[in-house]
Amino acid sequence: MALMRKPVVAGNWKMFKCGDEAATLAAAVDSGGSPLAAEVDIVICPPFPALVRVADVLRAGSVALGAQNMHWENEGAYTGEVAPPMLVDAGCRYVILGHSERRTLFHETDENVNRKTHAAIAAGLVPIVCIGETLDEREAGKTHNVIAAQVEGSLKGIGAELSRIIVAYEPVWAIGTGLTATPEQAQDVHAFIRRRLGQIGDRPSAESTRILYGGSVKPANAGELFRQPDIDGGLIGGAALDADAFLAIAKAATV
Ligand code: PEP
Repeated sequence: MALMRKPVVAGNWKMFKCGDEAATLAAAVDSGGSPLAAEVDIVICPPFPALVRVADVLRAGSVALGAQNMHWENEGAYTGEVAPPMLVDAGCRYVILGHSERRTLFHETDENVNRKTHAAIAAGLVPIVCIGETLDEREAGKTHNVIAAQVEGSLKGIGAELSRIIVAYEPVWAIGTGLTATPEQAQDVHAFIRRRLGQIGDRPSAESTRILYGGSVKPANAGELFRQPDIDGGLIGGAALDADAFLAIAKAATV
């Protein structure tokens, strides 16, 4: 991990945790995470209904709040959707966009993700833009092509704003499966992403963009992944639901 980029560890709680449980987990992450905050940005992303409750727990500001999705419009007749200013109002500073579950289960496209990325930046939120290849694509030798297309499509027009976004490389075959990319596989794709960012923006901006790895990160494998030069932390799913495991991963990003 390059010294100039502060690592980020973000927890994606997915569709888990109601109010009391969410507040308890957030309080545990907040108290264990505060001493690490100078060295790593820690973010937790609960489901929408728990955001305000968790924001109340995170008053000290050492651990930041994020959402898992949003619409790109600021308001309108979009039943069931949540707008960027609503997330800001709830206390969010980050938003996960284009997670593979959104792309696969809810048919989100690079074009949708691109609109959302622009909208997040305009609202003052830091988008965590997710990209990653499927197992079939990897086995067919198409990983770099797929990643290049996702970078170009999801980040179209973001070249001048690269320092305001975070990219998360999450190989689809590693999410929630217990399979993790090897540090070498992950580093190869992260370095590739950074080179592509340098083409849509400029090289110094690409060097300053934080690129997270996600996919079955656990305390046991986090250190080795985070020591790779282009891996700047992690987007954590399952292990983010356990405060001790999540904090151990955050700690691994400080070493
Ligand atoms: C995720 O949901 O973004 C994720 C990486 O999940 P897991 O850590 O459980 O693989």
